[in-house]
Amino acid sequence: MRRAWQAGMIALARSPRAKRWIQSGRATSGLASRYVAGPDAEAGVALAAALLARGIRSSLFYLGEYVDSPVLVAENVAAKREVADLLGRAGIEIHVSVDPTQIGHSLDPALGRRNALAIAGAIADAPGDGQRLMMIDMEDRSFVDATIALHDELRGDGLPIGITLQAYLRRTEADLAARIRQGATVRLVKGAFAAGADAAFTTQAEIKANHRRLIGLMLSRAARDAGFRPVIATHDDRLQDHAIAQAEAAGWGKDEYEFEMLYGVRGALAEQRAREGHRMRLYLPFGRDWWPYAVRRIGENPRNAWLLARSLAGG
Ligand SMILES: Cc1cc2nc3c(=O)[nH]c(=O)nc-3n(C[C@H](O)[C@H](O)[C@H](O)COP(=O)(O)OP(=O)(O)OC[C@H]3O[C@@H](n4cnc5c(N)ncnc54)[C@H](O)[C@@H]3O)c2cc1C
Repeated sequence: MRRAWQAGMIALARSPRAKRWIQSGRATSGLASRYVAGPDAEAGVALAAALLARGIRSSLFYLGEYVDSPVLVAENVAAKREVADLLGRAGIEIHVSVDPTQIGHSLDPALGRRNALAIAGAIADAPGDGQRLMMIDMEDRSFVDATIALHDELRGDGLPIGITLQAYLRRTEADLAARIRQGATVRLVKGAFAAGADAAFTTQAEIKANHRRLIGLMLSRAARDAGFRPVIATHDDRLQDHAIAQAEAAGWGKDEYEFEMLYGVRGALAEQRAREGHRMRLYLPFGRDWWPYAVRRIGENPRNAWLLARSLAGG
């Protein structure tokens, strides 16, 4: 049931006709505002400021997906640079998430690399003296080697970089161990993709067990000694509890690791973690192209069916 629901929502995310119809309709604007800050960088920064007032940090993400033209790539890069500048001017920590394919990596890896350098450089040079980071998202398995190489190169150049690794992949334990030795910043997620049993854990139970094991590595004493910065990105409160217990046992301060969740998903849990004194960050998308992103979030939980039905009915 869960798989069929998710597959249906992914098909809907990829339908240009559904996207045109839904993104132009006023009735669905409630759906957009549930998961997305607004149409532009100003709206993203305004919501980031409001969240910060409640003790919650943000990672801004410009919604430009399924990019197949240099014009869209250029637009995506400009939006990432603009939001870094606006965050700096607003005196807010500069944290921007980037998909390699949205900045041209699948069109031409050299173009993707140049654009990653340009965005990371803009983040490093943005106004203000607060913390800053470009967090690289991880896409499907075919991009993992190139994305890790990109991270390592930019990190070697002294740019403020973090990388996302996925617990569903068997290789992640080794990839993570190497990044821990570097003292890098890693955001660990479950992984929004699937692969065969040779490369991946294929059942939810296996993926969750690996997720727990990797959280243990991220919050070990050795990782802390190496200057590693763990980001635990999950909406699973039991995995979060596990991370907190590991962190306490290994002597991590609450300001030395952080949790990250998606804006619009389990908001009460995010607020609760912030109240408990944890560093909590929300992945905060902005941009006009909101439908493919929102429908994937809806697809992650069959209980969201009512939300979709009510929105499409104009309620
Ligand atoms: C900050 C962040 C960045 C991410 N970046 C990437 C990335 O770069 N690459 C990648 O492959 N994946 C990424 N993901 C997605 C991730 O891989 C998972 O697909 C997603 O987080 C769901 O897994 P979970 O660990 O939250 O656990 P789950 O077991 O899926 O969820 C835990 C609990 O939260 C509830 N829940 C989860 N999602 C929803 C929802 N949409 N609506 C309502 N309830 C929900 C579940 O019902 C369950 O109760 C990212 C996730 C986050 C939080």
